[in-house]
Amino acid sequence: MEPIASTPTHCPYCALQCGMNITPLPQGGVEVTERTDFPVNRGALCGKGRTAAEVLSPAVRLTSPLVRSGGRLVEASWAEALDLVAERLGSTRREHGADALGVFGGGGLTNEKAYALGKFARVVLGTSQIDYNGRFCMSSAAAAGTKAFGLDRGLPFPLEDIPRTGCVILVGSNLAETMPPSLRFFTELRENGGKLIVVDPRRTRTAEQADLHLAPRPGTDLALALGLLHLIVAEGRVDEEYVRERTTGWEQARAVAMAHWPEHVERITGVSVPQLREAVRLFCEPESAMVLTARGPEQQSKGTDTVGAWINLCLATGRAGRPLSGYGCLTGQGNGQGGREHGQKADQLPGYRKLDDPAARAHVAGVWGVDPDALPGPGRSAYELLDALGTDIRALLLMGSNPVVSAPRAAHIEERVKSLGFLAVCDVVLSETAQLADVVLPVTQWAEETGTTTSLEGRVLLRRQAVTPPPGVRSDLYVLHELAARLGVEKGFPTDPEEVFEELRRASAGGPADYSGITYRRLAEENGVFWPCPQPAEDPAAEAHPGTPRLFLDRFATADGRARFAAVAHRATAEEPDAEYPLLLTTGRVVSQYQSGAQTRRVAELNAAAPGPFVELHPRLAARIGAAEGDPVTVTSRRGRATAPARITAAIRPDTVFMPFHWPGEGRANTLTNPALDPTSRMPEFKSCAVRVEVVGPG
Ligand code: SF4
Repeated sequence: MEPIASTPTHCPYCALQCGMNITPLPQGGVEVTERTDFPVNRGALCGKGRTAAEVLSPAVRLTSPLVRSGGRLVEASWAEALDLVAERLGSTRREHGADALGVFGGGGLTNEKAYALGKFARVVLGTSQIDYNGRFCMSSAAAAGTKAFGLDRGLPFPLEDIPRTGCVILVGSNLAETMPPSLRFFTELRENGGKLIVVDPRRTRTAEQADLHLAPRPGTDLALALGLLHLIVAEGRVDEEYVRERTTGWEQARAVAMAHWPEHVERITGVSVPQLREAVRLFCEPESAMVLTARGPEQQSKGTDTVGAWINLCLATGRAGRPLSGYGCLTGQGNGQGGREHGQKADQLPGYRKLDDPAARAHVAGVWGVDPDALPGPGRSAYELLDALGTDIRALLLMGSNPVVSAPRAAHIEERVKSLGFLAVCDVVLSETAQLADVVLPVTQWAEETGTTTSLEGRVLLRRQAVTPPPGVRSDLYVLHELAARLGVEKGFPTDPEEVFEELRRASAGGPADYSGITYRRLAEENGVFWPCPQPAEDPAAEAHPGTPRLFLDRFATADGRARFAAVAHRATAEEPDAEYPLLLTTGRVVSQYQSGAQTRRVAELNAAAPGPFVELHPRLAARIGAAEGDPVTVTSRRGRATAPARITAAIRPDTVFMPFHWPGEGRANTLTNPALDPTSRMPEFKSCAVRVEVVGPG
């Protein structure tokens, strides 16, 4: 790892994409320091970002290709490893057809990698079977946002608008642990007299800062939103003129909400009627307000409808498409936004185009130089793809994901992965999924390569290379270039990220997520550019588009320019508690770990701060089962069991237990979670399943 120079770049982890400098140290190695010129973090970094350089160390990362031999992964040359991957992908396709090949990507891949991976799957392999782990992240919000506004961009306004609005309802987001530097926007909001309402079954560190904390039973956020809309109507707080001029579908949505009486909603959610009234007052009294959702309402088998119900609140009160107001989704993964725009999703082509749209297929096929009719159609969603491993899907190429830890019903998914005829994994570290591979290809990571990401604000950013990668490591783009050549496609897979980005610009031109006016030069000079940023192909000399920090101010992106209400009723979670499984499990994150923990569990400081999983129990529940602080307890669902120490706290509801999901092994929370899928987004129900909890007996 050789430092090149002190380099401004962005964090490898979450969607806030904090600005950081990577600076050479006199004694060797590099240090990460804060960048004060990036307006999102303005000099702040969380512990994950501050320690990110540790994952660059050859001591924790892969530095040689590995090939399975005699049951063990042993070092091999790049040529041997790539030859083997190409040979097995090719032979599987010959014997079983192209759709026997699966490709699984990640929301941490740069835009260039996500784009190249989608193109590789469809042009080189010819498979429809590609999806990515972002399906497990914000897909319900993306589906609901597209339905309501005709376009999904996580936040349709910059984070800098938050301190100047009147009220924010933060639904199912623990920002204090997931992206701590963002908390200052909410602190400033309150200092300016604005109000913060947090909706979360747990009194999290974020909820502690709220003016009002609503703690619904897991899986009932939809009913909660309906109860609030009922009161908005009953109290005469609907913005009738806005509803008339800028929306459609109000009468149907209104009728559904009016059938959800507040007292009924109180019984479903556990949130009292006075609390509902107070929330409506805080939300409706100011001139402007926002609703922001995260994984809580989204990771449900009714996630799309739940988010739609929260969007309804903005539409009924005239708070979408107006200054300092609106609905936004707080995307989680580092490139969660860009990762869903450029073609690694089962149903999409670059530019956020739909794969089943003939015009979109023709445009992208033109850029790729292929016959549109030769492009495969939509494939399986992430969980369905993983569930088909070893049966319909015989060989898998996996890039930037660790589903053995992060997928729902993880023990089953682990068995599916083991049953594959062939698995190739591109990763930085030997993750739990990579450990099961036939071939592991060690690839470059954030500071070792240049590429772009798109933050939760829709701001496209340039991550710059700051160090040379260790010998033996190659980029994902190199892997795709070499595999394409071995599979007979000599052109179209450049290894230079800027060259890939230039093609991505053309492929996205005219699409919903239009990057055509964005260049690496602009990203470097302007500290990021918000999409859409069109550059008319017929007039390349036209004045540069400034980018679009704020969407929908004049019209929504639907055909008629109006936003659409969602007429959605409450329904139970896919798995309600019963006599055998009387409690609800909800899962989430802790501040010192990131996603499946593949990177952060290798950082000493983070590991010391959060060394393992735990089970959060209310004191009344702990007393009932005889658990003391630190006692090992077993949580059992219909899919398996997980064991971890008890952490007893009154911050959780007595009918609910919580586990963070960052760890493998016997404390793996996703062993328990329910893969019931949302019918629209195909999001699994991570946020609630029925469980029982027992203290592990002696011996
Ligand atoms: Fe990195 Fe997110 Fe922490 Fe910022 S908040 S330093 S982007 S992990």
